[in-house]
Amino acid sequence: MVPVMNLILLGPPGAGKGTQAELLAHAHGIPQLSTGAMLRAATEAGTEIGKRAKAVMDSGGLVSDDIVIDIIADRIVQPDCANGFILDGFPRTLAQAAALDKLLAAKKKSLDAVVAMSVQDEELIKRIAGRFMCANCKAGYHDEYHKTKKPGVCDKCAGTTFTRRPDDNADTVRQRLMVYYRETAPLIGYYYAKGNLSTVDGMAPVAVVTKAIENAVASASKKSKK
Ligand code: AMP
Repeated sequence: MVPVMNLILLGPPGAGKGTQAELLAHAHGIPQLSTGAMLRAATEAGTEIGKRAKAVMDSGGLVSDDIVIDIIADRIVQPDCANGFILDGFPRTLAQAAALDKLLAAKKKSLDAVVAMSVQDEELIKRIAGRFMCANCKAGYHDEYHKTKKPGVCDKCAGTTFTRRPDDNADTVRQRLMVYYRETAPLIGYYYAKGNLSTVDGMAPVAVVTKAIENAVASASKKSKK
């Protein structure tokens, strides 16, 4: 177990960042900060930011840096982030990474590790195109890899209504992947150059990936203490 961690999970859509962030957040008692989930909550609530973000998100593009940087700036200073946080889906551009560096420095915080999760493109498309969730409790499922135990009934809350993200269709996924390679993949080089990048095989089973991320964080914090 790693006591405190400020961690970034980096990877294309469908790499498993959300799944791993949720598991690690639960295991370590620190929050999962998913800008995608925060933006979806804003669109559902019909806020001004939500309205501005919706069309961009539905088309598979990136919401403007200013919006997501402001969201994260407000979030990482909340008391529940004092012992660490897991960033899932942020930063996604070099400008966001630079802004995060400044925010952390201003708060005398630092990153413990940046873990890149690698998964083949065809697998990403398969994973995303099959995703669905319970409309009530938001528990995640997959048409092939993670079905509900009883058809049509949520394992967690027994809800019977399910939804799919509007951006989880094959066409939008290809666009999201292109955006990832163009805008986000350069962050791998950015964090490699800073010396805090580790890579894990995101094709491995969920529990194996979790262990690999924990090992990466543990060895990154050992390295930084030397
Ligand atoms: P996600 O849930 O991480 O797949 O994000 C869903 C969508 O929200 C993305 O395709 C973007 O449109 C938007 N989004 C989430 N995080 C960011 C970010 N850091 N920068 C820009 N757009 C984002």
